Formats: sequence, structure tokens, C-alpha cells
Amino acid sequence: MHALYRQGGRERRMAPHIVYQEASCPHRDCDQPMQAIDFRLEDHGRAVHDPLVRAWWNDIGFAGRCPRCGGWIHFTIRGKRAITPEESAEYPQLPDDWHARATIL
Ligand SMILES: [Zn+2]
Repeated sequence: MHALYRQGGRERRMAPHIVYQEASCPHRDCDQPMQAIDFRLEDHGRAVHDPLVRAWWNDIGFAGRCPRCGGWIHFTIRGKRAITPEESAEYPQLPDDWHARATIL
């Protein structure tokens, strides 16, 4: 199911939007709601959109900071997890203002 979803998304270059099982930010003691995210990468232009969409569907995912606690989060198709600033450098990164454009529920 996962592989099928991933292949279909990559072929259609679908915009990343996701519903996670965990309802909030993965950082401890942060209650920022973060269950469903429409990243709206198309609003940031192709230089941002294209590599991040590719990383999403390749299962690499991308890193971005929580709008409430500022902690780095690794977002993938499978889940989201808290990471350190050092770890965030290993992944493609969302623009600083990603949460201003995204729909986060
Ligand atoms: Zn947070």
C-alpha cells in the first residue's frame, strides 16, 4: 500500500499533503496541532517546490521548524519525528515561512 501510494504520487508529481497518526508536534511538551498538513509548496516557486516534491516521493522527506516551539521536524510519508538542528542539515529544508503558507490542522 505504501509503495503503491508512493509510486502513484511520484508519477503524478502530486503536491505533498498528509494526515499523520500523531495529532501534534513531535517535540516534547509542544502542543502545536500538526496532524494534517497541506504544505502548499507550489506557493514557494519551482526552486523550492521541485526538489522538495522529489524528496517527498523518494521517501527522503524534508525538514522544517515547528511554528510554535521552533524545533526541527523531519516530515516523511510515513511519519514525522523530532530531530536536532544538526540532523536537519542532512535533509532538504522547507523555507523558514513554510507554515505561513501551509494549512496545518
Ligand atoms: Zn513544536
